[in-house]
Amino acid sequence: MSTRLTIAARDRAIRGMQGTELDVLVVGGGVVGAGAALDAASRGLTTAIVDARDWASGTSSRSSKLIHGGLRYLEMLDFGLVREALRERALLIGHLAPHLVRPVPFLYPLAHRGWERPYVGAGVLLYDTMGSLTGPSRGLPMHRHLSKRAALLEAPCLRPDALTGAIRYWDAQVDDARHTLTVVRTAVAYGALAANRTRVTRYVRDGDRVVGADLVDMETGDAFTVRARQVVNATGVWTDEVQRLAATRTDLRVRASKGVHLVVPRERLDLLSGLILRTESSVLFIIPWGRFWIIGTTDTDWHLDLAHPAASAHDIDYLLTQVNSVVRTPLSRDDVVGVYAGLRPLLSGTAESTAKLSREHVVGRPAPGLVVIAGGKYTTYRLMAKDAVDQAVLGLGRDVPPSCTEDVPLLGAHGWAAVQNRRDQYAHQYGLNVNQIDRLLHRYGNLIEEVLAPLAGDPGLAAALPGTPDYLRAEALYAATSEGALHLEDVLTRRTRVSIETWDRGAAAAPVVAELVGPILGWDRQRQEAEVEKYQARVAAERGSQCQPDDDSANAVRIGNAELTG
Ligand SMILES: Cc1cc2nc3c(=O)[nH]c(=O)nc-3n(C[C@H](O)[C@H](O)[C@H](O)COP(=O)(O)OP(=O)(O)OC[C@H]3O[C@@H](n4cnc5c(N)ncnc54)[C@H](O)[C@@H]3O)c2cc1C
Repeated sequence: MSTRLTIAARDRAIRGMQGTELDVLVVGGGVVGAGAALDAASRGLTTAIVDARDWASGTSSRSSKLIHGGLRYLEMLDFGLVREALRERALLIGHLAPHLVRPVPFLYPLAHRGWERPYVGAGVLLYDTMGSLTGPSRGLPMHRHLSKRAALLEAPCLRPDALTGAIRYWDAQVDDARHTLTVVRTAVAYGALAANRTRVTRYVRDGDRVVGADLVDMETGDAFTVRARQVVNATGVWTDEVQRLAATRTDLRVRASKGVHLVVPRERLDLLSGLILRTESSVLFIIPWGRFWIIGTTDTDWHLDLAHPAASAHDIDYLLTQVNSVVRTPLSRDDVVGVYAGLRPLLSGTAESTAKLSREHVVGRPAPGLVVIAGGKYTTYRLMAKDAVDQAVLGLGRDVPPSCTEDVPLLGAHGWAAVQNRRDQYAHQYGLNVNQIDRLLHRYGNLIEEVLAPLAGDPGLAAALPGTPDYLRAEALYAATSEGALHLEDVLTRRTRVSIETWDRGAAAAPVVAELVGPILGWDRQRQEAEVEKYQARVAAERGSQCQPDDDSANAVRIGNAELTG
């Protein structure tokens, strides 16, 4: 079966969903829904997944992109969560997604003499020990204690008076949007029907029982109904809203907490590894990200537009102030290439501040035929998915095999070591350098040949998109031919990260990409121009919101023309 997410495949999927009674319909194509679709499909269940917008367009493209146990959850004595997450980290690095999930070193600077080194050292030792008990595939080096001198060699950008020494430890990172998309494609490889930009507007009921959903194809406006024995609501911060469509009472409440990240050029911070800094309420990460650093994050309640969380000037200044409290040469707004904001789907509790709410997940069964899953972390998506599908299986009332996703590598992972060993051949074959091949391997794994095959007919596809040294035209094309991109924004924001990695936020790349993908997506000249205009309006709205002093004004500017900006 082809795993390419083409327009034709999407149309077939939409038709296929209507032609049968499914075992499982998954609502929400973030990482949790994608994981649930893969879990269900790989158990042999007839499965479909839909998302109202693009795959991963909610929280799952806007995280800190760490696959981690969460060192700070140890301090909250949340050992169960840390152990589970470290095990997932081992599975992902080991064999589920070794091409996408990469080890990353962090420096934990110590600011106090005496108590801090033994305290933090014990925590990091426990973290590493728990990690090493998760299996032989863990593959990360153990932590090391560093003197002040050694720490400053590793992090020359730090002010000498900001630290007394440091501890270096290892975690892992992933491009979250690409990973989620890969989970969707893997689910499709196991038979799932997948349609992005397809919104659930109502649950269909038979008495108490939920027996399907009404949907709208947001591309055509066509409404249709899908029958399913079990519906799984995996809609993150939209959980309450989507639950209301079922008109059932549930105690499960999800609240949104906004987290903002800045993207800064690598050369602006003289640093050999990532940094984790304590703040008054939480921690701040400086995370290596290709030619950039990602700096984040904030943690504040958000009650405004869920689809377009806006970063305000206050958020940006807060992050800059935190970093500037420890570096020799302060960062300014002029150093910020990109900004993004995401919403944490936190289970409602009684804790006063969002930073203290549990990151663990819950699965509910508010009505027969309906399962709801919420909370959790990106890292634990596979477990969340398994728990949700286990609940759905109970409702199916027949024998279904247990979850097997622990043994189901994601697309691109197969033969990873051997594929890496072919770097030089690929470089020679496609006329690229080995660094370019290496970068592509970590984005596409063994699908690299699919991405680069069109170069044979058009060597110009090896050129980089304007404004970016890294992203090849072939990657933009592949986004449309194989990765389900339906709009310019999908290509520039999630299939690639041009929107946060270029000074003009993709303005120069936009018309070039529109021309490349237009013929694939059936766009005439007018439609190409409209897509470019819409993308530019989105960039302008985001830039405008980032100059506003607070959430209300930033939200007003961001959604002022949401109709136009998407
Ligand atoms: C700032 C920040 C940093 C984070 N950092 C990390 C980290 O480093 N590591 C980590 O492990 N976790 C991290 N997290 C948490 C993690 O990102 C989330 O837990 C995870 O991405 C949530 O995924 P989800 O699938 O539940 O939700 P989402 O990704 O939001 O997916 C829900 C989907 O449902 C769709 N939807 C909504 N309504 C409908 C409808 N009516 N019909 C169809 N579809 C619908 C939406 O379009 C959306 O795509 C972070 C979160 C934030 C906000």
